[in-house]
Amino acid sequence: MKRVALYIRVSHEEQAMKGYSLQAQENRLRQYANEHHYQIVDYYRDEGVTARSCPGRRKEFARMLRDIKAGHIDCILFIKLDRWFRNVSDYYTYQALLDQHNVIWETTEEEYNTHTAQGRLYLNIKLSIAQNESDTTSERIHFVFADKIKRREVISGKLPIGYSIANKHIIQNAQAPIIRDIFQYYLNTHSIHKTMHYLANIHNIHRSYPAISKLLRNERYIGTFYGIKNYTTGIIDKQTFETVQQLLKNASSKTISSPLSCANNIISPLMASATAPLHPPSNITNTTENRHENNNTYAKYTIPCKYLFKGLLRCPHCNHKLVGLTRHYKGTHYIYYQCPQSHHKALTCPNKTLYKESLIEKNLLTLLPTLLPKAVTPLTLIATNSQELKPSNFPMHFYWYCHQQYPNWVRANQYQYWHWWVEEVTLPTTLLITHENIKLKHHTI
Ligand SMILES: [Zn+2]
Repeated sequence: MKRVALYIRVSHEEQAMKGYSLQAQENRLRQYANEHHYQIVDYYRDEGVTARSCPGRRKEFARMLRDIKAGHIDCILFIKLDRWFRNVSDYYTYQALLDQHNVIWETTEEEYNTHTAQGRLYLNIKLSIAQNESDTTSERIHFVFADKIKRREVISGKLPIGYSIANKHIIQNAQAPIIRDIFQYYLNTHSIHKTMHYLANIHNIHRSYPAISKLLRNERYIGTFYGIKNYTTGIIDKQTFETVQQLLKNASSKTISSPLSCANNIISPLMASATAPLHPPSNITNTTENRHENNNTYAKYTIPCKYLFKGLLRCPHCNHKLVGLTRHYKGTHYIYYQCPQSHHKALTCPNKTLYKESLIEKNLLTLLPTLLPKAVTPLTLIATNSQELKPSNFPMHFYWYCHQQYPNWVRANQYQYWHWWVEEVTLPTTLLITHENIKLKHHTI
């Protein structure tokens, strides 16, 4: 029985214009597969993806390629060729890959025969027409946007606090003075944390720490929209904004050992020196002697990016997701997680515990490898490279190997390897996390 993958793609414009809905395509493909007694392997639906976006941006397409390489698919089914590609060169690039894995494709609504010269000519013509159609749409959209930009009109997307739309233009609203006030407040206090509380207490606007950090860096507040300076009148004057950026930069270079971004930090040292052994700085290998001091060093030097378990930890009282918090004391940075519900004005949760990140990290990085499926655990890798590994470095090596093995996951969302396996961790009140606290996702391998 022929094993078929049903490939469905629809862009936003098409969905609106031609009624090429996902559902309609899916129904037609299913019907066709049943009529021909094909075995459906899976549905791959790329929604809101235009033919112009490169194949790399089609998530489901990528998933299907993985299944093709794994040998699960004999044939790909789509309704028309333009669902597949609208670009001659992309078509041939991926056709080579299909040939390599003995995978063919079929369309339900059109007929192609690639075994004859005549048939191939017809295919090329169809692809060229599709490409031309797609280029024209692209030009049309580009033209519409260019025109809007010329008139300084709002294009799309949500506006940040302080701005509204009036008569197609971006204008400052009644909240603009609040923005000026909090920029000034940050200038006076140099503290995002204090600014967050100030905004909540004085203006009754509740935002998380990362949101405030982002807000203070938002170029839209000096009038830069869509990458164009002076698109509208800024709420903040340029000098104030620059000073704030400098302060934020200084603060973050103190917090993280290197100013590079999270993903770069993790990947580049691995890529750059494949031959160099992955040894952590020598001052952290001694994990038993001075626990307290060691924990600080641990958090400061070995973790290239903060909050490794962001989004996974939950409050034992109210089950709300915990948020990160950094405190500075005498030149050291202490990283914690806390329940946001207990720090807001409303005080809906009594749990005021500050969970030390270094402790949680150590705990989870030791526990997780024992829970994850053996087949994909980097533990196996660790065993084969045993001469360069010491048990005391174990959590770090686990962490590194995760990223070496799965760099794309990190790049995608700055998510960590275990986000793929772990659903959530409900923290115990004692800080000693056990298997019972961890809820895993159920994947099939
Ligand atoms: Zn809570």
